Amino acid sequence: MAHERIPLRLVPDPQPDEPAGRGVGVLGAVEVLPGLVRSALLERTGVVRERAQARFDAGSADPRVVDEALREAAAVFAGHAPLGVGVAAAGVVDPAAGRIVEVNDAPALRGYPVADRLTELAGAPVRVEHRARVQVLGDRWFGAGRGRRSFASVATGEVLGVGILYDGQVLAPVGGRSGAHMTVTASGDVCTCGRRGCWKTVATTRWLRDRAAALGMDPRGVSPGTLLASADPAARDLVVRYAENLVLGLATVQQLFACGLFVLHGEALDGGEPFRELVETLLRADELGGGEAPTVVLGEPADTGALLGAAGLVLSGS
Ligand SMILES: [Zn+2]
Repeated sequence: MAHERIPLRLVPDPQPDEPAGRGVGVLGAVEVLPGLVRSALLERTGVVRERAQARFDAGSADPRVVDEALREAAAVFAGHAPLGVGVAAAGVVDPAAGRIVEVNDAPALRGYPVADRLTELAGAPVRVEHRARVQVLGDRWFGAGRGRRSFASVATGEVLGVGILYDGQVLAPVGGRSGAHMTVTASGDVCTCGRRGCWKTVATTRWLRDRAAALGMDPRGVSPGTLLASADPAARDLVVRYAENLVLGLATVQQLFACGLFVLHGEALDGGEPFRELVETLLRADELGGGEAPTVVLGEPADTGALLGAAGLVLSGS
């Protein structure tokens, strides 16, 4: 069983409602981010049985720090013999080789053979995909995107990116591209990619904390939720600017693909309904009109979207 390759089944729309007993076996999911590995053991219906996570030093260039975090996170699979493990990886990935090619914010992940390592740890076949692609699959199969032909799945926080489902197809080249490096300002800060003015230079947790610190706030614990709850008008202004910056990227996606629905994941969830409403209002103000007015919704509270999509990879050939 250990290294047996399961036949990949094309399941364009699995039935997450089916009784758990009908599908045999459990699925593994792993999300690899700069400094963090998350994992989950799931039923075929998308129900999460168990979760774990392990941090590693994102500044380190030593792949052994990732080995250690992966080993810790993979402990959820021990004794369960998952049918397979799907991996959602940030950065640029090579799905065919099961390898992470490059993650600007985490040098230890450069060239990291995540499929080989996880196959050893989990004793199951492993499929690796880019996180933005995987997250849109999670929303499509198990989340707010169910039943839709087009929508966008948005990662916010330390990792920024958009996955797009357009007319039933995931619009992303194999291996990567999530929009994080779209140029949104002509003379912005230098990005981790070396260029200036990328979307991620103005719409991530790092930007929010840097600006909070510049305003004399304690950047630790600064989030959309804390800023919205603050009585300080400067805090309110900052969170509005953050939402505007997020919408810079989302509006471009809406202009190009008229996705209609944007599912927010990650840090945005911390801002709850007030933040959702803020983003939706800004996005609608930017809309050309004529089509479906864009709607913004919050992803599931446990923020398992990428993990669900990764688990779905095990069942799908797409
Ligand atoms: Zn960049």
